[in-house]
Amino acid sequence: MYATLDPQLGAAGICAFIVEKNTEGRSVGTKKDKMGLRTALMAEVALENCRLRGRTLLGREGRGVEVFNCSMAWERACILATCLGTMRRQLERCVEHVRRRKQFGQPIGKFQSVANRIVDMKLRYQTARLLIYKVGWLMQGNKSADMDAAMTKLYVSESFVKSCLDAIQIHGGAGFLTELEFGREMRDSVGSTLYSGTSFSGRLSREGWGI
Ligand SMILES: Cc1cc2nc3c(=O)[nH]c(=O)nc-3n(C[C@H](O)[C@H](O)[C@H](O)COP(=O)(O)OP(=O)(O)OC[C@H]3O[C@@H](n4cnc5c(N)ncnc54)[C@H](O)[C@@H]3O)c2cc1C
Repeated sequence: MYATLDPQLGAAGICAFIVEKNTEGRSVGTKKDKMGLRTALMAEVALENCRLRGRTLLGREGRGVEVFNCSMAWERACILATCLGTMRRQLERCVEHVRRRKQFGQPIGKFQSVANRIVDMKLRYQTARLLIYKVGWLMQGNKSADMDAAMTKLYVSESFVKSCLDAIQIHGGAGFLTELEFGREMRDSVGSTLYSGTSFSGRLSREGWGI
């Protein structure tokens, strides 16, 4: 949790705190239903007249922004790594499908527009993978990775949504059936463009993008 010592101090007044489960004034609301990521439960946490002791301070006083930036870099670098596996599985399933499924006397992968979708899926997957590996490499070497983590999160989440939609199109009507599970993956992918900072806000920091 982040709170300020004094609003007049601006960013320099912000501190990070660990709010333990049994802290007085801390309560958790009812579970919220989501359109995707349904196994990751979500609820509102309310803090009202919460009194925190000094030992709950995380990092140094007034350095909460640094704690936040550091934790966001880690979150943005790692949180979508699992989506790479989903993107690869979708690609493999699509390649197999376009080889097997025949229309107008030939496998649908022979149609240029279908093949182009496979190419786009593969390019997105490989680019996403390299971005994630690069940010991991930077962090392993204790190098600044805020910008790379933000780019990675933005690119991987948007690529994930596009690849889910491509997988549905490639499978035609069958792709719309819940049994193939592309719908669930697509709903999960939309969440990835929102959490850890939205795709819109990911483009906001003009300074970071060198603009
Ligand atoms: C599945 C899921 C899991 C989440 N998990 C967590 C979690 O674990 N911890 C946590 O703290 N939060 C979590 N969140 C919350 C998430 O970080 C926020 O929903 C997200 O940052 C957007 O904030 P908001 O909902 O207040 O939207 P708003 O800030 O109200 O934004 C609404 C729209 O306006 C745009 N917008 C906002 N400000 C600007 C601006 N200055 N310029 C241009 N456009 C702008 C946004 O991009 C968005 O499109 C989670 C959200 C989801 C969907």
